[in-house]
Amino acid sequence: MDATPEQPREDPTPADVRPGVDDIADPVGPVDSGLDAPPAGAVGVPDQLERLWTPHRRAYIGGQDKPTGPGPDDGCPFCAAPRRDDVDGLIVARGERVYAVLNLYPYNSGHVLVCPYRHLPDYDGLDAAETAEFAAFTQTAMRALRRGSAPHGFNIGMNQGAVAGAGIAAHLHQHVVPRWGGDANFMPVIGRTRVLPDLLRDTRAMLAAAWAQVG
Ligand SMILES: [Zn+2]
Repeated sequence: MDATPEQPREDPTPADVRPGVDDIADPVGPVDSGLDAPPAGAVGVPDQLERLWTPHRRAYIGGQDKPTGPGPDDGCPFCAAPRRDDVDGLIVARGERVYAVLNLYPYNSGHVLVCPYRHLPDYDGLDAAETAEFAAFTQTAMRALRRGSAPHGFNIGMNQGAVAGAGIAAHLHQHVVPRWGGDANFMPVIGRTRVLPDLLRDTRAMLAAAWAQVG
């Protein structure tokens, strides 16, 4: 296949980068299966680690969007997201008791979080109806991702408590992370940095459409 190189992109000035959706740029171009070698010297094409640039991680490290306390009114992003419209809140789908949202700090393209609307920390705090819809949304997220971007596998799970790695420990969220063969080819194997291959807004639109077809 003679894949067309992605159009050149200008690197935004880091100082101008905010953690909001609008300004999360794609510095390296989309990643497909990761199996095709990029053209040598192409502008905007990943060249191992030299141009790795992750504004989403910068924002995270800076502490933006982190709650100031454990309560729902302490800046909890999972309480705030459903109050925004779907595009601004990166909402993929809304249910009665739970919703699906794109992770603003994705481990991989299409990293979905399933959250209850209710602000609670632990999985065993969900009532029966919430548990059922939480599970159904996790399944639908898998189906929507399969339809939208044909992943080869998934990482799915929850971190319970900050000590277990939960970034927002006060509000339960289930990670649904699509995986492709070779998707870590040019990512660091140490550290937690990942390349953000798609604009989050484009990914949200794609997944919301796919969700409507499979949900
Ligand atoms: Zn919350």
